[in-house]
Amino acid sequence: MKLHNQAMNRLFDKYLPQAEKEPMRAQWAPYLEKVEISVVSRCVDHFTKEWNRIPSLAEFLDHATTEERLQAKRKKQTEVRNCPNCDSGFVTVQHEPFTVRPCHNCLPETYDAWVTGQYEPDS
Ligand SMILES: [Zn+2]
Repeated sequence: MKLHNQAMNRLFDKYLPQAEKEPMRAQWAPYLEKVEISVVSRCVDHFTKEWNRIPSLAEFLDHATTEERLQAKRKKQTEVRNCPNCDSGFVTVQHEPFTVRPCHNCLPETYDAWVTGQYEPDS
């Protein structure tokens, strides 16, 4: 919780008078501690730089959900880029006609869809 508290401080220090910080922290902490610190920290950056008022808890958590999805997507993209078994998630199975299949190693869900015939390119 230490890092979560530090992140909350950055936000509260900007917008709240001293007397309101502790009650706010008590209210937010149970929700924020369920969120990864990397996400909380990015959200605090967002709300201190892009906003000029403190967000409501619901607004904060809403942005956290968006940020979580973004980070998961970036992580996935890095995995695919660094996968030793394929070229950007796809493996060439036939050169004429040119056919590729999703990589089993880094895109297992896409690969399963391909195996069962449910895979649609670009879907
Ligand atoms: Zn791969």
